[in-house]
Amino acid sequence: MSEEKEKSVGKALQEKLLTNRRSGLLRVEADELAKADSFCEGYMKFLDDAKTEREAVTAAIALAENNGFMPYEVGKAYSAGEKVYFNVRGKSLILCVFGKNSVESGVKILAAHIDSPRLDLKQHPLYESTEFALLKTHYYGGIRKYQWVTIPLALHGVIFKADGSCVTVNIGEDENDPVFCVTDLLPHLAQEQSKRTLAEGIKGEELNVMIGSRPFKDDDVSEKVKLNVMKILNEKYGVIEDDFVSAELEVVPAFKAKNVGLDCGLIGAYGQDDRVCAYPALEAILDCDNPEDTVITVLTDKEEIGSVGPTGLSSAYLRHFIESVADMAGVAPYTVIKNSKCLSADVTAAVDPTFSDVCESKNASYCGYGIAMSKYTGSRGKSGCNDASAEFVAYVRSVFEQDGVIWQTGELGRVDLGGGGTVAAYVGNMDMEVVDVGVPVLCMHSPFEITSKLDVYMAYKGFSAFIK
Ligand code: MN
Ligand code: MN
Repeated sequence: MSEEKEKSVGKALQEKLLTNRRSGLLRVEADELAKADSFCEGYMKFLDDAKTEREAVTAAIALAENNGFMPYEVGKAYSAGEKVYFNVRGKSLILCVFGKNSVESGVKILAAHIDSPRLDLKQHPLYESTEFALLKTHYYGGIRKYQWVTIPLALHGVIFKADGSCVTVNIGEDENDPVFCVTDLLPHLAQEQSKRTLAEGIKGEELNVMIGSRPFKDDDVSEKVKLNVMKILNEKYGVIEDDFVSAELEVVPAFKAKNVGLDCGLIGAYGQDDRVCAYPALEAILDCDNPEDTVITVLTDKEEIGSVGPTGLSSAYLRHFIESVADMAGVAPYTVIKNSKCLSADVTAAVDPTFSDVCESKNASYCGYGIAMSKYTGSRGKSGCNDASAEFVAYVRSVFEQDGVIWQTGELGRVDLGGGGTVAAYVGNMDMEVVDVGVPVLCMHSPFEITSKLDVYMAYKGFSAFIK
């Protein structure tokens, strides 16, 4: 053993006074990394099973029921330790474990979203052009359109027929399934297109999905390829063209989650915003037994388009659930709400090694540095964001530090460059303390988003520490 060199006064002072930002990968022991790898195996399966909000609700309910959660019954009195879930129209989900303390002291909430950017089919999607059958789309959420061409795509969703019956569609995920594709020009003929700006490189009306190429042979029919596609759909699902009007069909990348890098330290997959927070928030409550306070995980729909509608978090569904719990406990709902605490679990931008100049390095989030807390998001002067109170940031910070959670803070890129929002603003509007905490992501909103396995595991560890 070598003799420890005595620290200089300046070195000791530096260690005492100055922030030391270091990668979590240099700070954790091998067993912690092994736990992260093992946790991420479950996460990658969830990514493959749950590419849409409806599929995420179904997958989460299956996991919840395996862990002793029962459907919530309005008007029933629950005792400490009981576990329930509340299905919000098949697209959002509330999970709750009742605590030992009265809800008068508030509940603790983890809120993540389960919708992701994608291509939605229009209401009259199917058409024929130059003897191909195609589907018109209207993109959902903020996508960079040029990233969605010439990649294998799958079709997920539901079709409600006029009689009210529903068929579930999932084509492109099984090894034997066909996939779909948006075409793009060959470089040889792209001289005009190449003069467009990147934002306009592929336009919204050019995101047309190839769905068929073989005609129904009958000279009396004009659109033979379209008819043949509709015939296949009718044989498979019993639907007619009119049924597209009452369908929600989502076009998503057809590939599965993969390890990225020779060391397998990263995960590449579609829909990590925000399943990378939704899955740890789900696992944290599934593993939460006999908490002190009543705890809730909300997996919400519609974050990517502004948290709108009855299944988005600006709707009253979460408040109604808390009111229902408060009523049974004989406590005024507003008392429960104002004493509650929430982590808005959503992703943030990770510093990209090739485009690092869009971040301000001292206040950016890095892959491998752990779960990232963002006191504020917003754009151009914090506009539209929650801006968590210093008191609450101090509280969350102490919770993380007590449990050895590796965490960092960061803003979403350089001031004045852009920005973004999360559900935090809507939770804050309820009169509740809330701060954004989530996993840094590379290539956010692309078909293949990238995260660090250590950060995914630290999200689980941080959420567990918050609700335990
Ligand atoms: Mn998000
Ligand atoms: Mn997003």
